[in-house]
Amino acid sequence: MEDLIIGANVTYRKDTQLLGSVEDALRYNCTTLMFYTGAPQNTARFEIDDNLTNKAFELMKENNIDPNNVVVHAPYIINLANNMSIDNFNFACNFLKQEIKRCDKLKMNYLVLHPGSAVKLERNVALQNIVDGLNNVLSESQNVIVCLETMAGKGTELGINFEEIKFILDNVNLKDKIGVCLDTCHLNDAGYDMGKFDEVLDNFDKLIGLSKIKCIHINDSKNEIGAHKDRHENIGYGTIGFDNLIKIIYHDKLKGIPKILETPFVDSETKKRIYPPYKFEIEMIRNKKFNHNLIEDIKKYYK
Ligand code: FE
Ligand code: FE
Ligand code: ZN
Repeated sequence: MEDLIIGANVTYRKDTQLLGSVEDALRYNCTTLMFYTGAPQNTARFEIDDNLTNKAFELMKENNIDPNNVVVHAPYIINLANNMSIDNFNFACNFLKQEIKRCDKLKMNYLVLHPGSAVKLERNVALQNIVDGLNNVLSESQNVIVCLETMAGKGTELGINFEEIKFILDNVNLKDKIGVCLDTCHLNDAGYDMGKFDEVLDNFDKLIGLSKIKCIHINDSKNEIGAHKDRHENIGYGTIGFDNLIKIIYHDKLKGIPKILETPFVDSETKKRIYPPYKFEIEMIRNKKFNHNLIEDIKKYYK
C-alpha cells in the first residue's frame, strides 16, 4: 500500500450507501474517503444495508483502500455546547448516540464532530456542556473514536484553539474514545500560521500530544490568517498556498494519518458548483507540483 493516505469528502446516498461512496472515491484516485451518513446539514438518516457495506469492503480491498482509514463526519447542526433549550441538547446527545451506532455498524473507526457553538452562553459554560454531552454519549462498548475538529471561530464556535480542545479532552472520561481532527483552513482562519507548521505542531504536541490526531482536513483558505471566516479554497489557490499544504500532507510526524480534502466544487458556466476538484487536486498532491490550470482542467474533464 502506498504511503500517502489521501481522500475526499464524498457523497453517501440512500440507495448505494458506503458502496457508492467508495466508488466515488475511486473515481478521484483516493486512498481513503470521508462521508456523512446523510445530508451534512440535516439529521434525516436511514437504515444501513449490511449487504452494501460488505460489497463496499470488498471493493476497498480490491483497490488497496484500508477501511481503518475511512472517516465519517457528523452533521454540523449537532450542538452539544448549548443547553438553553434542554430539548435541543437532548436531541443532539441522542442523535450523536445513534450516529455512533451507525459508525459501528459500518465498521468505521473515526467520527469527526464539530465541538459546537456557545450562542448566548459564556464560552467556559459552553465548553463544560460539550464535556457533559460527550460524557453522556460516549460508551465503553463503542468502537468508533469521536474526533473533535479544530474550528475557524466563525460566530460563537468552540474548539478554535488547542487550549479549548485540550479542556474538552482532559475532562472527557473515556479518553480512548476521543481524538482530534485538524483542519488546515480552520487553523489558518483561527489565527495559526500554516507557514510555520512545525511550531503549530510542537504547540499541539506539548498541550495535547500528537497521538490524539486521528484525521486531517486539507483545505486552502479564501481568507487571511485570523479572519474567523471558514471559507475553503482549492489546494494552492488560497492564502495558505500549495507549498505549505504539501509540507503538511507529507509531514514526517503525520504519516499514517488520513488526510481528507473538503475543497469547493468548481463552477460550471451556469455558475452552479458542480464539478468535483478532487481527482485533479490529488494528482497535484501526488506530483508535488502545482497545476496553474487546475480549474480549466477540471472544467474540460467533466464537460
Ligand atoms: Fe468539519
Ligand atoms: Fe473540516
Ligand atoms: Zn470548514
